Amino acid sequence: MEREVKREIVKAGRILFDLGLVGYTSGNISALMGNTIFITRTGSKLGYLSEKDIVSFTLNEKIPETASVESIVHRAIYASTTSTHIIHAHPPHLVALSLIQRKIIPLDAEGKYYLKEIPVYRARNPIGSEEVAEIASSVAKEHKLILIRSHGIFVHGNSWDEVLNIASVAEKSAQIIFLTAQIKNYSLREKK
Ligand SMILES: [Zn+2]
Repeated sequence: MEREVKREIVKAGRILFDLGLVGYTSGNISALMGNTIFITRTGSKLGYLSEKDIVSFTLNEKIPETASVESIVHRAIYASTTSTHIIHAHPPHLVALSLIQRKIIPLDAEGKYYLKEIPVYRARNPIGSEEVAEIASSVAKEHKLILIRSHGIFVHGNSWDEVLNIASVAEKSAQIIFLTAQIKNYSLREKK
């Protein structure tokens, strides 16, 4: 069972990396089994994980130093929802839009269907902070995708397919917003 969870995290890491949603050593992934969180090690390469890169600890235990710096946020989400799967990624188009918009409203049908709108949450310290953990625990019930300004997303749910799909749809929607803006600028120039 434990091996199965670790194997699934390895697989999810590869998919997240292949989708271009994380850089070489960025992002992190976790799963909850009973009272135990399984999470990627700090600095691990999500596209090239092995089972040794996965650290475990219980919800009430002190977070081990080897665990991802975002463990505090993962734990806050598990504590406030019934979710069992979390991914944290840095999708470039979403992060870019988070710098200039307070909420991102998808233009494409799929994005609208899955997400409706994506609020942008600001934190003074956006990485591995108590502040982000507090934001996450207060909004996680309402939002499966939590976008932190200038940093990235936390997506939680009850299967890898669910969380990976939400992350991928959100980034595609952000990309479509950029493409649409470019087309609009282009056609304006053509009319001159
Ligand atoms: Zn991050």
